[in-house]
Amino acid sequence: MKLQYWGTAAAEGVPAIFCRCEVCQEARKRGGRNLRGRPNALIDGVLKIDFNPDTYQQSIRYGVDLTELRYLLVTHTHSDHFYPKDIFMRRKGFANYRGDNVLLTVYGSDKVVEQIRPAQESKSMEGLLDSVLLRPFDTVQIDKYTVTAYPGHHAPDSGPLIYGISDGERSLLYCHDSGPLKEEVWENWKANGTYFNYVSMDCTEGATPSMSYAHHMNLARDIELRDRMLAEGVADEKTVFCCNHFSHNGGNSLYDEFKEIAAKEGFIVSYDGMEVEI
Ligand SMILES: [Zn+2]
Ligand SMILES: [Zn+2]
Ligand SMILES: [Zn+2]
Repeated sequence: MKLQYWGTAAAEGVPAIFCRCEVCQEARKRGGRNLRGRPNALIDGVLKIDFNPDTYQQSIRYGVDLTELRYLLVTHTHSDHFYPKDIFMRRKGFANYRGDNVLLTVYGSDKVVEQIRPAQESKSMEGLLDSVLLRPFDTVQIDKYTVTAYPGHHAPDSGPLIYGISDGERSLLYCHDSGPLKEEVWENWKANGTYFNYVSMDCTEGATPSMSYAHHMNLARDIELRDRMLAEGVADEKTVFCCNHFSHNGGNSLYDEFKEIAAKEGFIVSYDGMEVEI
């Protein structure tokens, strides 16, 4: 299974759109992997995870033709993960079809489906857009992938789901956005003997020493998550753990610095365009 990160920042990007903090100024100066777009990912060129305002430009940058996209898995409705206005550009007139229409199916929580339904039901979108409602702990088959939705520990009004995705041989946990996981998720994993080869973890707060905010993670919380996954057999020494989803407000959050800090803890660090063979 190949995972490609298109964007790896939190909501406002790095540099943040209107920010002049030291981190953002430095990111503008250094460029390269220190520049992060809003979070997007793609599995095997087939299964898209999230669709934010940067998706259009990122699709061009990474040479992916979105007219071929059939499967979109949405984590929650925050604008850095879901920007339905661009999905509405599928409607006839804004997009021209030649009888070879591809049906795009959007999978997500009730909040996601609520936002997509008006477009789905409009005449101009006939045969072009479908949606599938996922509730926490639902499992669905999407192409060759078995996808299980787990409740994210994140703003409840955004309908947060995190996803376990397996192609039958390899499996990954896409844990964005979420704070420390709910006990019911651990219980579910235990009951099902769940195992992940790869874990993409929220690291919005970077190396900030401590945080009280419940809905995101920092490196210390990532370590706690990793250690409990290892202890409970949800992961093992072969599992790769990746820190992703960075805010300019997080500690030592520029890629160059954070990569070194995370490596000492055994983590890899995402950057825009990074491809991982899982
Ligand atoms: Zn986010
Ligand atoms: Zn900033
Ligand atoms: Zn969010």
